[in-house]
Order: sequence, then structure tokens, then C-alpha cells
Amino acid sequence: MAEVLVYVDHVDGAVRKPTLELLTLARRIGEPVAVALGNGAADTAATLAEHGAVKVLTHDASEYADYLVVPKVDALQAAVAAVSPAAVLVPSSAEGKEIAARLALRIKSGVLTDAVDLEAGDEGPVATQSVFAASFTTKTRVSVGTPVITVKPNSAAVEAAPAAGAVEALNVTFSDQATGTKVTARTPRESTGRPELTEAAIVVSGGRGVNGADNFAIIEALADSLGAAVGASRAAVDAGWYPHTNQVGQTGKSVSPQLYIANGISGAIQHRAGMQTSKTIVAVNKDAEAPIFDLVDYGVVGDLFDVVPQLTEEVNTRKG
Ligand SMILES: Cc1cc2nc3c(=O)[nH]c(=O)nc-3n(C[C@H](O)[C@H](O)[C@H](O)COP(=O)(O)OP(=O)(O)OC[C@H]3O[C@@H](n4cnc5c(N)ncnc54)[C@H](O)[C@@H]3O)c2cc1C
Repeated sequence: MAEVLVYVDHVDGAVRKPTLELLTLARRIGEPVAVALGNGAADTAATLAEHGAVKVLTHDASEYADYLVVPKVDALQAAVAAVSPAAVLVPSSAEGKEIAARLALRIKSGVLTDAVDLEAGDEGPVATQSVFAASFTTKTRVSVGTPVITVKPNSAAVEAAPAAGAVEALNVTFSDQATGTKVTARTPRESTGRPELTEAAIVVSGGRGVNGADNFAIIEALADSLGAAVGASRAAVDAGWYPHTNQVGQTGKSVSPQLYIANGISGAIQHRAGMQTSKTIVAVNKDAEAPIFDLVDYGVVGDLFDVVPQLTEEVNTRKG
């Protein structure tokens, strides 16, 4: 069976959930071989094996932390040369997409970004993408070289599928460009204790209807009752009510959670572009004609200041 390379996103050996989702998808098209780089790379092996990695190729060097993406591209290119995979899968983060694009250029292959599903096809893996501000769903296939595909978080379930997970050292020679862009400082983001917006299984968002920064406490309370991340429309962000890092949409982040709850958001095309692939969409809006109701699975026509606190209380009560 053909091998499929999976680029591992991890923090000091702790594997992030989108990588485990990639392993589920990789198993549909071949045998997953994981590539883990940098500090703690070898510590990822047990988790990756539990989720189906037949092999884990590891390499640690200070270059991965000290320079931007090129050392990682060098390593993936070395892995492609070593394995001759049927495809390379990379999580669809900003960094992941840059790595994928650079890798595809190096190995003279096609690249597909932001896939939301992946299946085996007669002529290679077929990716599902949501394009043109989520107006169309397309099925696409790379027709030149080894397909390099980035996949959005929450596109597949994490599944246990124990495999050997044999650790092998990857031989990497860094290119001249690898040390071209040095990281000179790092400032850790203040933790909110909530999940990362793009990876969260549930996102609770607020828009202009929230009507003020302080009122976002209502949105946060609902999010916390559900263990969710908090999102915001651009109108809310532009008004200074919530940080730009939480903006969902065309010029913000693209999310695809199991559940998206939009509160006081009208559903403009630019907002939909960032959340339309969510599995279940719920909206609370006092205007029954708001366009958001065209795409919801469940809608509540009502004042969010009445509805959201009741919802939060109900969730908390049911949690016991
Ligand atoms: C190039 C470009 C890029 C853009 N990128 C983005 C983007 O990334 N993300 C994004 O979100 N937007 C983006 N926008 C802006 C977008 O067009 C909309 O202006 C924006 O999404 C509107 O935000 P909103 O729904 O919160 O506000 P509004 O459209 O003003 O809607 C507010 C909604 O709240 C409801 N409401 C009011 N009070 C209450 C209440 N008490 N209870 C319940 N409901 C209430 C109203 O009925 C209304 O439907 C972009 C625009 C452009 C031109």
C-alpha cells in the first residue's frame, strides 16, 4: 500500500489535534508516515502510533525554532525523497500553507489548500474544497507530481487506529535559504484558557448585535459553558469590542467546527466565507429576515440578551 506523508504540528512533543485528524484522512488513501521535526519530535511517536502512523520520521535541529519555514520545507523534501509517498498532507494553518506551497514548488507538484475532506480516487486523492467565499463546493485532484494537500482543522474525526509507529531518524541537509529569515524574538500570547479558534470543535461568535465590548461577557459565558472558542464578526472587531485575532471571515480566520453559534451577526457573505463549512450552524438574531437564517440548521429569532444567558444557564444545568 502506498505511503502518505503527514506533517506533524506539535508543541514540544505534544501533538495538536489537526494532525490526528490528518492521520484519519491519510488512512483512507494509504499508510500514514508521520514527519515530526524540532524539539520533542521523538516524543510524538506514541500518540502518532495510536492514531495510525506506521512510521514516524524525526529530526531535531535548532534551525526549526530559530528560522522561519524553510528548514521544515527542506526536511519534508528529504522525507518525500526517502518515501516516494502517494501524497503529502499538511494542516491548513498559515504556516502549513506556506510550507505546502514551497514544498510543491520544490518537488514540481500541484498543491491544494484548505481541503475539508479527502478520499481515495482512481488517479490519486480527491480533495473537497469550499471556494469563492464558500459559494461552491468543488472536488479537486492534483494532476502533476506528488499531491501536496493542506486540510482544514475539524475536517475529520480523530480515530484510534493502533499501528507500529516505528521511529526512524530522517536525514536532512539544510539548503542555503534555510537560515535566510531568523526569528529574533517571541512574545507568548496571553492564554484565555479557551481552545484555539481555528481548531475548536465549538465556536460561539458575537457580532454588531452584541453592542459593546463589555457585553461580550455574555458570549464568553456561553462559550465557556460549552468549552468553546470565541469568534467575532468584523463589525464587532472594527468597533474595538473584541481582538482582531478572533475575527471570523474572509479577512479573518476560517473555522470549520462541529458547532458554530452566531449571535447578533447578520450573515454577510464575507462572514459566511469563514464559517460556512461548520457542521451545525445555529444563529440568534432578532431580525427574522437576517441572511444568516438562510444557512442555519437551527435559528432563534429573538434578542440575544434574553436568549444567550438562558442558553448558557440551560447548558450549565444539564452539565450538572
Ligand atoms: C473586503 C471585505 C472583507 C470583509 N471581511 C469580513 C470578515 O472577515 N468577517 C466579517 O465578519 N465581516 C467581514 N466583512 C464585513 C461584512 O461585509 C459585514 O459588514 C460584517 O460581517 C457585519 O457584521 P455583523 O453581522 O456583526 O453586523 P451587522 O451586519 O450590522 O448585523 C448585526 C446583526 O445583529 C442583529 N442584532 C442586533 N441587535 C440584536 C440583538 N439584541 N439580539 C439579536 N440580534 C441582534 C441585527 O438584526 C443584525 O442582523 C468584510 C467586508 C469587506 C468589504
